[in-house]
Amino acid sequence: MGALFESQLFRASQGLFRGYEAGLPYDSPMNIQAGIQHALERIEATRTQYGASQKVALELAVKTRSAEECAQAARLLKDLGQPILLGHNRVQEARDTVDAIRSVEGSHVHLIGPLQSNKINQALACVDLIESLDSVALAAKIDQRLSTSLPVFIEVNVSGEDTKHGCQPADVDSVVEAVVRSEHLKLSGFMTVGLNSPVEADVRSAYALLRKIRDRIRVSYAMSKLELSMGMSNDLHWAIAEGATIVRVGTAVFGARHLG
Ligand SMILES: *Cc1c(COP(=O)(O)O)cnc(C)c1O
Repeated sequence: MGALFESQLFRASQGLFRGYEAGLPYDSPMNIQAGIQHALERIEATRTQYGASQKVALELAVKTRSAEECAQAARLLKDLGQPILLGHNRVQEARDTVDAIRSVEGSHVHLIGPLQSNKINQALACVDLIESLDSVALAAKIDQRLSTSLPVFIEVNVSGEDTKHGCQPADVDSVVEAVVRSEHLKLSGFMTVGLNSPVEADVRSAYALLRKIRDRIRVSYAMSKLELSMGMSNDLHWAIAEGATIVRVGTAVFGARHLG
């Protein structure tokens, strides 16, 4: 690990703990701001460290955060000239916060958690993009409910862990076909939740697998751009090294979650 990267990590962790030191709750605006700034610095330091040439957007994973915190975070991203990306795990939480988030012009709400069939209409009413599309059946059901175009990412389980959502790598082609042949869905990228392991080689090879899937599909369908949404607070550096274009960060920006 390079010295620059280590110093960035140290500063990021300082940002994380500053709230406790100052006796402030994590949700104070100053801490969200520091958290976002540190996450952005960490992303840039990592790109330098690994010579990663792709742009990397910070998507805030906002589960359990209040509508006000979500709006605040969205405003901060906007003021920093960053893409305004907020990822929700639960449709209900997306519904509860979407009006506040939408008060910030240019904001995008993504669904990053599993989508049950009975929540599709509610989801479509409040999200701009679904990152967790993981089956042919779900693609068909979502497509049926749409009258306008919707961008989606296909979620792939590249870690092989049973507990993970996402289609198997072997099923990617059939899900891609379903999206491409659908009337309203637009394939815009791939998403995964990485292997839960401290072993760099193992975590990176799972992310590399998603990158190879993305590259292969991009070529076979002659698509110009497909995002790679991978990497979270703990391992975003390894995801960026393997080509992530979007990292989804919760804890490193907002602090530990106390609920849910
Ligand atoms: C919570 C969550 C994240 C962010 O995780 P942190 O470790 O808090 O950064 C990213 N992606 C998904 C799907 C999540 O549920």
